[in-house]
Amino acid sequence: MKACLKCGECCCRFIIEPHLADVKREPRIAKVAKALRYGRWRLACCDPCPFLKLDKTCEIYATRPSECRDFEPGDCWGYGVNTIDKWWEEQEADQE
Ligand code: SF4
Ligand code: SF4
Repeated sequence: MKACLKCGECCCRFIIEPHLADVKREPRIAKVAKALRYGRWRLACCDPCPFLKLDKTCEIYATRPSECRDFEPGDCWGYGVNTIDKWWEEQEADQE
């Protein structure tokens, strides 16, 4: 398994759709995610997850969705690409 570079890229790239069990474990998911008709929630879709913090750690790490728990660093295809800093810079520029 590859070592995680803690670049945060995986939390910016994947489609994360928590299940009901995830939402029961972590109710904050339902507050920020879109409810889908097939009993799941759309937390992120190829954009930064709302729980990804500026220091690239997860705000709900202890109660994160099962998809995030099952993810192995070696699975990542954004390995160390690190686009999140650029994304945040663009967001800041848009607000100026
Ligand atoms: S819930 Fe946490 S681990 Fe999962 S994508 Fe969001 S920030 Fe990453
Ligand atoms: S993309 Fe890979 S290396 Fe970067 S934080 Fe995610 S698991 Fe770690």
